[in-house]
Amino acid sequence: MGKIRVLSDTVANKIAAGEVVERPASVVKELLENSLDAGATELRIDIESGGRHLIRVSDNGSGMLRDDALLAFERHATSKLSDVRDLLSIATLGFRGEALPSIASVSRLLLETRSAEETTGATVEIAGGKLLSCDERPGPPGTTITVRDLFYNVPARKKFLRSDQTELAHIASLATHYSLAHPGKSFQLRHGASELLDVTPVETLRERVYQVFGNQTLEELIDLDYVERELDVVEAEERTRRVFALRGFISGPHVQKLNRNSIFLFVNGRLIRDRLLMHALSSAYHNLMPPACYPFALLFLDCDCEEVDVNVHPSKTEVRFRHGSFVHDFVRDSIRDRLIAARPASGIPVSTAPQPAAGLPFSDFTQRIENQQFEPMPDPDAVPERIEDLPVFTLRNTASAEPRFDFSETANALATAHIPDTHGPLPTVDTLQSLAVLSDLRPLGQIHDSFIVAAGRDGLWIIDQHVAHERILFEQVLRQQAEGRVERQHLLMPILLDLTPGQQIEYARIAGELERAGFDSEPFGTRTIAVKAAPAGVGPGDVEKLVFEILEIAEGELPKVSVGDLRRSMAASIACRAAIKINMRLDHSKMEWLLTQLAATQCPMSCPHGRPIALRYSTRDILKSFHRI
Ligand code: ADP
Ligand code: MG
Repeated sequence: MGKIRVLSDTVANKIAAGEVVERPASVVKELLENSLDAGATELRIDIESGGRHLIRVSDNGSGMLRDDALLAFERHATSKLSDVRDLLSIATLGFRGEALPSIASVSRLLLETRSAEETTGATVEIAGGKLLSCDERPGPPGTTITVRDLFYNVPARKKFLRSDQTELAHIASLATHYSLAHPGKSFQLRHGASELLDVTPVETLRERVYQVFGNQTLEELIDLDYVERELDVVEAEERTRRVFALRGFISGPHVQKLNRNSIFLFVNGRLIRDRLLMHALSSAYHNLMPPACYPFALLFLDCDCEEVDVNVHPSKTEVRFRHGSFVHDFVRDSIRDRLIAARPASGIPVSTAPQPAAGLPFSDFTQRIENQQFEPMPDPDAVPERIEDLPVFTLRNTASAEPRFDFSETANALATAHIPDTHGPLPTVDTLQSLAVLSDLRPLGQIHDSFIVAAGRDGLWIIDQHVAHERILFEQVLRQQAEGRVERQHLLMPILLDLTPGQQIEYARIAGELERAGFDSEPFGTRTIAVKAAPAGVGPGDVEKLVFEILEIAEGELPKVSVGDLRRSMAASIACRAAIKINMRLDHSKMEWLLTQLAATQCPMSCPHGRPIALRYSTRDILKSFHRI
């Protein structure tokens, strides 16, 4: 007799559960997705002991017919797909028919459901995949699924669960994300007796962001509005037009997070992790923010279902785009254009007396969350494997190393989340924050021969003269390169540079780019090059350092990034070497020239390496500090 056997459903479900159900948050994710697929507008989550003891998701969705209630627990039983062709156009969050049987195989599960089409509903009770009971029951339309004692029969999995607070943080993160994706629906999350999230339906994403993250965060964010780009696709000699749309919120370059935890990506309403979109986002901030920093971003990309394959992984958190590079460039350009148009300035942190809670149940709640010991942030480079692993709710009790922005360290977010209607009117974006006012700044003088102090319509400004000039030159170099008229200066004596074997390889590879950037160089013997001309403005003493720096950039970047990115990095290095330094006295006309030139740049807010250029002490803050308002 052969040795191969077909596994029983019970074993198969447990195996599937290994992929689908990693931790309590994965259960919440699957149940929430089912509720959303069922058209629910009110979603309520109850949790006990970080989800170990109890997870309950109740909805007012379509409910299930009595006959379907049992079927839902069969492997690959779904109401959302019927044909393999449907896989190409999945409009629901679920489609694999794996979640319910998987969850039921590793917990004690109770389903209570009624479809509006029937007068009585059904209850189904399953423990460890075994059916315990199945009854008719009265009750309101909708579905409630209660999952108790997760992993009670899989001790190995149970051991991997983290503290209750950590598991709860993952759940809270998920609930928050889904609430952002569906502003028109109400979401509630309770842990024991505490209400962690309670948002009522609102019309716009903006209002939902306000409910979830609060006023201050919203003021700091840039609304992407709604951007669309079309793509003509020719298939089987038929031309179709595909529309891609992007909306959401992003932070200005001055918000610099040390990890990706504040980046939320949704594709067709589905929360995902995606390298392509992540890269597009980083490219948008290239030369605006230091390389190892990340912004806050809440991005919703919508496109035809045919354009994106969601059937990549059982947890459905990865996608594959059919026209990846189109999507990448669309997202990068839309964000970059918006960043450039918004020109947000860095404020000077002003210490104000602690604000009284003004009758809001803030402080009490913040205290409650702060009392929970959350775990440290993961290593910035460790990309979590699953959405549920994004520790969005990491909290620190002491002042954080990051100066001002704590979007996702969500004590604040959650604190505001449960008092949605008491904030008063929606704030408008403080337009004075924009660097558009730079053009009529009046220089008053310098501090330490390094920073220009200037008076403006909207307050006092401090401008770092070196990085300001760096930005001006950077854009000038890029422009000249694009137009093919780079200014170069001949050196009196060629500079000879000895290259390592690695540098020789890079040199051979980018010699054309060096030439394009204004260098005139050629091999001189086997491992030496002679540089005869350099970009204008770069002093002879800097040429050697600059060439080595560029070779290093090429070594680090060329295999991975586009030629465009390499050129930008080279331009940034050239600008840095040619820019006026700090500790240099400037006369009034020089300062004026610098400010006018800066105002004319595309991105006066940060230098090409991502450092801020200008700080503003707004009139409002000045008045506040003198207790005049
Ligand atoms: P999938 O979502 O991939 O179809 P699931 O195992 O998550 O698979 O669910 C199986 C089926 O149970 C769904 O297709 C749906 O018909 C039904 N179902 C699950 N949850 C709900 C709910 N909250 N409301 C209505 N129907 C539900
Ligand atoms: Mg499902």
